[in-house]
Amino acid sequence: MFYASNKLADIKREIVSRIAGLYPQGEAENMANMLILHFFGLSRAMQQIYPEKRISESELLLIHKAVKRLLMAEPIQYVLGSTEFYGLKLEVAPDVLIPRPETEELVDIIVKDNKNDNIDILDVGTGSGCIALALKSTLVQSRVTAIDVSEKALALAHRNAENLHLAVDFRQCDILDTEGCRKVFEKKFHIVVSNPPYVLQKEKEQMADNVLKHEPHLALFVADDNPLLFYRKIMYLAEKSLLPEGKLYFEVNENYAEETASLFGGSRFATSEILTDFHGKKRFLIVRKCS
Ligand code: GLN
Repeated sequence: MFYASNKLADIKREIVSRIAGLYPQGEAENMANMLILHFFGLSRAMQQIYPEKRISESELLLIHKAVKRLLMAEPIQYVLGSTEFYGLKLEVAPDVLIPRPETEELVDIIVKDNKNDNIDILDVGTGSGCIALALKSTLVQSRVTAIDVSEKALALAHRNAENLHLAVDFRQCDILDTEGCRKVFEKKFHIVVSNPPYVLQKEKEQMADNVLKHEPHLALFVADDNPLLFYRKIMYLAEKSLLPEGKLYFEVNENYAEETASLFGGSRFATSEILTDFHGKKRFLIVRKCS
């Protein structure tokens, strides 16, 4: 027996008490609800209607393993293998960053800014495919290309596209390898969007264990002495492949928002605008190319 009782209400109480050391009470309860919904298919309402429901040993084993992973500070999205992003259910795994609510805001900015959806979009560093898929699901006439350096991330993004019946052209290429990316950037795009790695190594100390120990560092970190590496590279490639009046949409490090914007001060780009996220942090940069 992994739990003292096999009754649903008792099991739930025990899950909460086991993870309560690591998470605040409300969050622990929320997680218990998510596990019970995921493994037993029982919503909160159903849990209240059937508190006496008996759970089998094999089902308890699943919960037991999941709770063990949570106790190692593994994010619940990885434990469940999925998350929700912009109304889409996406598979996630430790090969990809867990999509953030800030990134949903970025998608929303793009959607509201582009009423005409007969456009070509490129997503650089797609990870789970969250931005590309959310845009394709909303801007239905658009043609979306998405690239990533990681084969594993692309395989996962591909599965997400198939599950959602969304057509996105996923390509493996390293944005830092200009020659390797040449084919992708030969195309012309109305929009280039990216949430590239932007956390500095020295900012690691401020990060929570569940991010630091479990999420892919490849998707998160940049060297302290070159924090704008990816933005500079994307700017260079976009100079050719972004159409006149085309736009770049970036998620940025709040401490480097102005510095990132100033990269685009040259004559090829007309305007740039920094927007704040729901925390009030400078999080998004929109750059428009000259006509
Ligand atoms: N916003 C993410 C975090 O704080 C970082 C995303 C990124 O580096 N692109 O963990």
